[in-house]
Amino acid sequence: MPTIKNFRNLEVSPMNITIHRGSHQIGGSCIELSAGNSRILLDIGKALPSLDETTLDETALLPGVKVLIDKKAIDAVLISHSHGDHVGLIGQVKPAIPVYIGKAALHIYNTTALFTGGKTLANPTFFFESGQPLKIGDFTITPYLVDHSGYDAYGFLIEAGGKAVVYTGDFRDHGKKAKATEYFKKHLPSGIDALLIEGTMMSRSTEALETEDQLEDKARELMQSSNQPVLVLQSSTNIDRLVGMYRAATRSGRLFVMDIFTAHIVSQLAPSIPKPSSSFDSIRVIYPFWLTRKMFEKDHVHLMNQFSRYKIKREELSQRQDYCLLFRPSMLSDLQHIDQLEGAEMIYSQWSGYKHQKKIKAVLDFADQKTMTLTDLHTSGHASTQALKAFIQQCNPRMVLPIHTENPDGFLECGNRVYLPQDGERIRL
Ligand SMILES: [Zn+2]
Ligand SMILES: [Zn+2]
Repeated sequence: MPTIKNFRNLEVSPMNITIHRGSHQIGGSCIELSAGNSRILLDIGKALPSLDETTLDETALLPGVKVLIDKKAIDAVLISHSHGDHVGLIGQVKPAIPVYIGKAALHIYNTTALFTGGKTLANPTFFFESGQPLKIGDFTITPYLVDHSGYDAYGFLIEAGGKAVVYTGDFRDHGKKAKATEYFKKHLPSGIDALLIEGTMMSRSTEALETEDQLEDKARELMQSSNQPVLVLQSSTNIDRLVGMYRAATRSGRLFVMDIFTAHIVSQLAPSIPKPSSSFDSIRVIYPFWLTRKMFEKDHVHLMNQFSRYKIKREELSQRQDYCLLFRPSMLSDLQHIDQLEGAEMIYSQWSGYKHQKKIKAVLDFADQKTMTLTDLHTSGHASTQALKAFIQQCNPRMVLPIHTENPDGFLECGNRVYLPQDGERIRL
């Protein structure tokens, strides 16, 4: 067993890859790459909570990662995007270790921390510029923006010691940034030694993969054909979806109502993203009762006041039908205090698997009590099996290493270059 002391001069191969977690599961991804005297981590995610919500929130680093962090044997951590299953354990990384992340992704991470009582990132931070190479020790890393349900998501070309590795991060090609994925795929050099590719849909392949634009059309048709309020259950950080719902709402003459947390999330994103500002008509902000109380208790008055001129009260919503309201399960008590929701429209716009969760069941029961019409409008944040195969074909790597999948075997039909490692196994290139 080597001691930590000589970790840095152990590397006899030009580049080594260790999937610390993710070789056989979705979420909690963490990959170590080492070359020469340098070592980096790609993502440092929390395992996804079980659907029955019986598992405790993960707070500890994996032992194999902790030992590297404790001994400062890591030059940097690169975060592909702001989903918790990729960034969730970043708070456990020593503050001296630099973190590389998308600027908007960091904003989403920090805003979420502020609103949920977590810690904002304290490490030195460097931002990705899509297509612009950056140097970390012996590594040259080129980040590329990719299409994903998480905003500001990146895939990477990583070069060192004459070897080249590609990590896709989470990606797809049927969202509103499909062209970004296409650009990434087409700009990869030939002779890639290893491709670390996500494979979420290898086990969820029966889900229909509509495009975000098709979904937006369906939402618009629904909103135009109804004269009732429309409630949309979706993640506040699924920005493609939010954009689609905003367009559907405004094209059907509706107010678009988001809560104060969502307003803060979108506030720092690209100018084209709908947000409460003078550039967008018809956006109002609801202040959920419990969240507002918690934020005032924590002295976050300034955050709460930031969008106060766009505030819409439950009393006003009780008197109108011409709105589309984005909500989360934690806002159920607010919905219970809005009048005239009998017969309203509810759009379920997230993964159907979450319907097993207690908090989602409570929302669906509420919809039932109010005789609402429930419509499922969702498409995956992840690449279809066809898109995964097309990526492999275009990248044409010497080795394919599946990650972020419950069905790595599903990749075996892509030929004998597919290698299925175990978590913690070192792969020498
Ligand atoms: Zn993920
Ligand atoms: Zn993701």
